[in-house]
Amino acid sequence: MKKKLLVLPQTDNLKITTNIGGNKLKKSNDKKLYLGVFEKVESAITKAIYAQKQLNLYYKKEDRERLINSIRKATLENKETLSKMILDETHMGRYEDKILKHELVAKYTPGTEDLTTTAWSGDQGLTLVEMSPYGVIGAITPSTNPTETVICNSIGMIAAGNAVVFNGHPGAKKSVAFAVDMINKAIITSNGPENLVTTVENPTMESLNVIMKHPYIKFLCGTGGPGLIKTLLNSGKKAIGAGAGNPPVIVDDSADIKKAAKNIIEGCSFDNNLPCIAEKEVFVFENVANDLIDNMLENHVVLLNKNQVSRLLDLVLEKNDENSEYTINKKWVGKDAKLFLDKIGVKAPDNVRCIICEVDANHPFVMTELMMPILPIVRVKDIDNAIECAKMAEQRKRHSAYMYSKNIDNLNRFEKEIDTTIFVKNAKSFAGVGFGAEGFTTFTIAGPTGEGITSARNFTRQRRCVLAG
Ligand code: NAD
Repeated sequence: MKKKLLVLPQTDNLKITTNIGGNKLKKSNDKKLYLGVFEKVESAITKAIYAQKQLNLYYKKEDRERLINSIRKATLENKETLSKMILDETHMGRYEDKILKHELVAKYTPGTEDLTTTAWSGDQGLTLVEMSPYGVIGAITPSTNPTETVICNSIGMIAAGNAVVFNGHPGAKKSVAFAVDMINKAIITSNGPENLVTTVENPTMESLNVIMKHPYIKFLCGTGGPGLIKTLLNSGKKAIGAGAGNPPVIVDDSADIKKAAKNIIEGCSFDNNLPCIAEKEVFVFENVANDLIDNMLENHVVLLNKNQVSRLLDLVLEKNDENSEYTINKKWVGKDAKLFLDKIGVKAPDNVRCIICEVDANHPFVMTELMMPILPIVRVKDIDNAIECAKMAEQRKRHSAYMYSKNIDNLNRFEKEIDTTIFVKNAKSFAGVGFGAEGFTTFTIAGPTGEGITSARNFTRQRRCVLAG
């Protein structure tokens, strides 16, 4: 490809001249640690605006697909480094599971094939509705899947023709900066514009405010807890909100109990329960409860007694006063099961993956999104009781729910009544995002705003083009 000199239109009183078609990494005037990472959030936004203009003017859909493929390849090549970096920075989760998450995001996040055109043709002419880019999107990412979300959002947003400015979780800012740099290098090596993906070196609430208020940013996408979603939905701009979950599992007496026990433990302990979709509490019919627990104990699990449960509660949950709600002690989020057990004086083998305990339906372990490899189990009388308890635990977050059953009526009833974005039957939580099941993946599951399993099409505007007569 021949190098062309490109002069971009003037925006914000800043004019830049750049080369496209070359694959040299250029130096930027802005002080930065990595490509696409800026000291000032205003610079991150301005650079992304220019990059998006280049993408929009000079790159076709097939070019965008090439850039995305390069990001996929870079992710697979760097999956060990990314996973180690997150672990070193956040001290949460499990290295080998983070590698799987990066493989999943690289291989199964949809690209430009997700975009479709609707057409009407007839005596009166031709009308097309096309999925077009917003421009520059402001995206906010969590500490629990920091680089996975950055990569997933970047693939989908670029596929749709956008640029993106990230405000990552401050607790994972180095990993986010590394991912942004990796993505920019991948894009430039495949002859794409620099700074299509940018971030601020030190993300804060102030930098998020600048992003939210910037006149060029018309669209926000947030993945995180309830505080973030509330802030974004109050911004006055179009926003995708991917919020918290507390996914319940029901096991009825028609289920394959051995399979249910293995799957639930594997799902619950995946990355030490960090994923929002991970199994958080189980409601099991009382006539099969002992069988389920015995089978769980075959899967690197420790069962706690009542005293041990109360010691664990004091360790991982906090309360300001008698009347306030419990909140999680963030120090313990995503830690290995063995660490909890050592701390409360319970002996366990080094390879223990999950802690289980029997509690009541309204126990704080059931009602709080712990994000720890701790699985509370509640005995229920029948399907009515199971659904009632599961709905109470899910708290209308409309996120995810799972069921093990061969009874079609029970499956149908729970699916309808829980009304979650993801509902998985007889498989692990990760089947809901295309791992070991059909369908594509995402790390931004938008329950509150209703887009569901987000992909490129959710980052587009609908534009109608009419040829009449
Ligand atoms: P978090 O809410 O603490 O942080 C997420 C992001 O929002 C960060 O970038 C943070 O800086 C920012 N933030 C936090 N509070 C904010 C506020 N009041 N206003 C504006 N921004 C704010 O979450 P976390 O601990 O990093 O991640 C875990 C949470 O995210 C869990 O609740 C989990 O269920 C949820 N999550 C949801 C999805 C999904 O797809 N639905 C995916 C991953 C994580």
